[in-house]
Amino acid sequence: MGLSRRDLFKLGGGAAAVVGLSHFPIFSARASRGLEVEVYAFHCGILKTQTQYILKDTRVGVPFDIPVPFYLIRRGGDWVAYDMGNNAQVAVDPIGYWSQSVCEAYMPVMKPYEAFRIQIKKLGLKPEDLHAVIVSHGHLDHCGALEDFVGTQVPIYIQKKELEWVKAQVESGKRTAYIPDDFKQLGEVNIQQVDGVLDLFGDQSVMAIPTVGHTPGHQSLLVRASSGKNYILAQDACYTLENMFACIPPGLAHDIPDSMTNIYHFKAMSVIGAELVPPHDPDWWAGKPLAPQKLIV
Ligand SMILES: [Zn+2]
Repeated sequence: MGLSRRDLFKLGGGAAAVVGLSHFPIFSARASRGLEVEVYAFHCGILKTQTQYILKDTRVGVPFDIPVPFYLIRRGGDWVAYDMGNNAQVAVDPIGYWSQSVCEAYMPVMKPYEAFRIQIKKLGLKPEDLHAVIVSHGHLDHCGALEDFVGTQVPIYIQKKELEWVKAQVESGKRTAYIPDDFKQLGEVNIQQVDGVLDLFGDQSVMAIPTVGHTPGHQSLLVRASSGKNYILAQDACYTLENMFACIPPGLAHDIPDSMTNIYHFKAMSVIGAELVPPHDPDWWAGKPLAPQKLIV
């Protein structure tokens, strides 16, 4: 009796059986030791910007309001933050904290209750309760709450190249998307440098993968949810679905060819069943549940 293509899927765990890629993390059917894995999303206000800053050379001058997401992932009893949104001070004095020139391109609209420390209370958590923080990159709308981890032992995982770039940008004195005050207590938090892939729990349930291009050390997150489905929390490696479907580079990129390589890879991963979560895509987020509801189960 011959095996049908459908039988091969059943035996081997999805597409992996057919194409012989079962060693590759996102194809593996290995469960995360039976623990639940789910994702909660938070929006730290919005940025009022223009389309060309999101989709390079596209609809120049057309206003574009984008959400600022960060995430908490629960795996069993452990909670992991992926990014932290804007600094709390942005809700009080955005121009004073970010500068006039930065706010001209990205004007934040944020309420005090949208700060990281306050929002995670929705899930009964304080910063010191977290198992880990994974930072996609050091930009102002992703890495604003490092100060919340001063005095804790919570490991904060950042790619080595991103950390080097953060320090260089801060030392340059230039007004960029790296805000010096976001890093003034860098030496007082438990920074853990990553050089490559981070499989946080060793079971492929939460994996940070380098997606350099937008910045020199950007990393995205792969999450395998309880359902067995794989998700790509892309953060700024792919701002919107239009960036991916129309193959448009991000409006802000350290290296455009590298940025496009990420987008091509995400496109391929989407074809084989991983769902991309585009951070700054208001259409994608419309109607999506935010914490305390679950985004992904
Ligand atoms: Zn960014």
